[in-house]
Amino acid sequence: MHMAIDFALTPRQRTLKYEVREFAREIVRPAAERADALADPQASFAAMKSAFAHAHRMGLTTGFLPAKYGGGGASNIELLLASEELAAVDAGFATTLLINGLALLPLAWFGPEELCERWIGAATAPDRTDFLAGWVVSERGGTANFDHPDPGAGIQLFAEHDRGSGEYVLNGEKHWPGNAGGWDLQGADVNICVVRTDRRRGGRDCLSVAAVERGTAGVDFRVIDKIGHRTCQNVTMTFRDVRVPEKNVFAHGDGDLVINRAFTWSGPVAAIAAIGVARAAYDFALKWARTYTGGGSSPIIAHQAVGHLLADVAARIEAGRYMCWKTAHYLDTHEDAGHALGAMNKVYCTDLMHEVVTDCMRIVGVNALDKKFGMEKLYRDAIAFPLYDAGNIGMQRRRAWGVMADTGFTPDLIADGDAIAFTRSMEGYGI
Ligand SMILES: Cc1cc2nc3c(=O)[nH]c(=O)nc-3n(C[C@H](O)[C@H](O)[C@H](O)COP(=O)(O)OP(=O)(O)OC[C@H]3O[C@@H](n4cnc5c(N)ncnc54)[C@H](O)[C@@H]3O)c2cc1C
Repeated sequence: MHMAIDFALTPRQRTLKYEVREFAREIVRPAAERADALADPQASFAAMKSAFAHAHRMGLTTGFLPAKYGGGGASNIELLLASEELAAVDAGFATTLLINGLALLPLAWFGPEELCERWIGAATAPDRTDFLAGWVVSERGGTANFDHPDPGAGIQLFAEHDRGSGEYVLNGEKHWPGNAGGWDLQGADVNICVVRTDRRRGGRDCLSVAAVERGTAGVDFRVIDKIGHRTCQNVTMTFRDVRVPEKNVFAHGDGDLVINRAFTWSGPVAAIAAIGVARAAYDFALKWARTYTGGGSSPIIAHQAVGHLLADVAARIEAGRYMCWKTAHYLDTHEDAGHALGAMNKVYCTDLMHEVVTDCMRIVGVNALDKKFGMEKLYRDAIAFPLYDAGNIGMQRRRAWGVMADTGFTPDLIADGDAIAFTRSMEGYGI
């Protein structure tokens, strides 16, 4: 009888996985090791530019974009296979690629044809090996409550329509957007910004999206100095009377849906990146346990305590990966109907993989803290996962909760892989 559930990779998927692994080890690793050690965060980011160009030539920076606009049209499963390999070597670099998707896919889902052709078309042009798009949502005052009904809560970057000129005028500040400053701090090629277009209405009625082109007057960037993910860029982005043509503003009043859909798409990508980092820690701990004696007479893997912990580590990585694949398959099947599973996958795997990395360090012992072995970088990178890409506590769990609170939801829908339509009534839980 035909086997409906099959975890075997196709020949094409295996080729992708091992090609990306080779690229990550040969090109990304040496660049990332140098970049991570630099004191200046912008220098760390810029040091990855040639690896990014290489990734572009391999189709990795645009593989997940729609084929209609020149992208690779890859499945979410293929995206995950590539992302795990990149993150296992450098999570920051994988995040830079992820952010290009977070920024450009909302255009494909909600944007007018003209903007899609222009910006996704530019991103996929063979000669644009350095094209960056910024995903500009987060704010200093907090982002978790973006769907709050109080106009004073959530997104406070205002875009006001100037009827005289037909432009929108943006004022406010974003804190943490990725890629937004570009390679030279003069701006990404395009910044996809979630804005509030009505000062009197709540987050479910008046958020919209503005595409801000590089070189637009009134925008200023300052780089944030992070402990991990040092090879990707996060900035504080200030807007002072920034004028954006009317045609660059889209998803009028639907910015909340844009945020939710983007973080549904990125949920399994962040989750598999956490698996990649945990896998790297496991690889190191296993090799260490097989050779290091801890001053005893046999390698430490001979101790049951170490062996049991290694078995737990391996099981959690394996289980996490399957959940990511299931989520990716679900999104490949149902597109915008995976909000609960996307959020649950992100929360579960990123929280768990942080523990896995810590357990791998406990196996290795004190030498895990020695910078020359690289485990401390994995630890610094792992802590970002539960906090970023919509924090697990304030955003992602709320998103899954809202779906489950709907009377139409049953657990079987996820277990059976059936679609769960996302509606606005599922927003705003726990604000
Ligand atoms: C490497 C990296 C890349 C990033 N890339 C981007 C990017 O490209 N674009 C971008 O816009 N941002 C980016 N960020 C920011 C990131 O997406 C954050 O997840 C986002 O800003 C939300 O932060 P937060 O969840 O901490 O929310 P905050 O609003 O700051 O909330 C902080 C904490 O308050 C509590 N809390 C708040 N509200 C609630 C609530 N309703 N219920 C329960 N608890 C609550 C929770 O404990 C929560 O963790 C990035 C961050 C990093 C580290």
